[in-house]
Amino acid sequence: MPRPEDSQWAVPVAQVASRAGQSKPIDAVFPAPSGIGDSIVGIPEGADVHVVGSFDSIVDGLILTARISAPISTECTRCLKPINKDWTVDVTTFFPYESADANGRRGGRNGRGRDDKGEVDIIAGEDESEDTYPLSTDGAFADLEALIRDTLAESLPLQPLCREDCLGLCPQCGADLNEDPDHHHDVVDDRFASLAALKAKLESGK
Ligand SMILES: [Zn+2]
Ligand SMILES: [Zn+2]
Repeated sequence: MPRPEDSQWAVPVAQVASRAGQSKPIDAVFPAPSGIGDSIVGIPEGADVHVVGSFDSIVDGLILTARISAPISTECTRCLKPINKDWTVDVTTFFPYESADANGRRGGRNGRGRDDKGEVDIIAGEDESEDTYPLSTDGAFADLEALIRDTLAESLPLQPLCREDCLGLCPQCGADLNEDPDHHHDVVDDRFASLAALKAKLESGK
């Protein structure tokens, strides 16, 4: 069985977990877990995920307050330009002490058990603050793999834009309107032009 500390996402927390009122800052980079988003919008596996915040111990567990940022890989839904920027999410989550004893889940590459739990949480309540994650069975490690995956996956934009006011593409010819905001097709003139051509044709047929 893999040891909790062997996980790439394990954070030692035994010191703060020893009694309530302790605080431990975290400022670390973890590899992005697999399965965040899809090929349309996602965070590539292994990309640098920066976690900055702190673990604070209360009587029945640890509260993690953190800012998670990772490079997002997608394209603008209006102009189709690739988007490569940092995606940042603030999260507050709870690692209860008794949960580790109750289900005995351990950190590691296989987070399937916790994925199942995550789905139950989503169905059971919409309040994201109710999301909790187990500590290792001895309470010495918090494994951030599932937290990082869930937090980033749930927050990904459904319709990513290169910028809020992206003008998109011309629906007629596909030109990028951001590069040429004055671009337009003179529809009215086109219509008159064809009418004029028709008139000329009719007149010539006389
Ligand atoms: Zn765009
Ligand atoms: Zn056009």
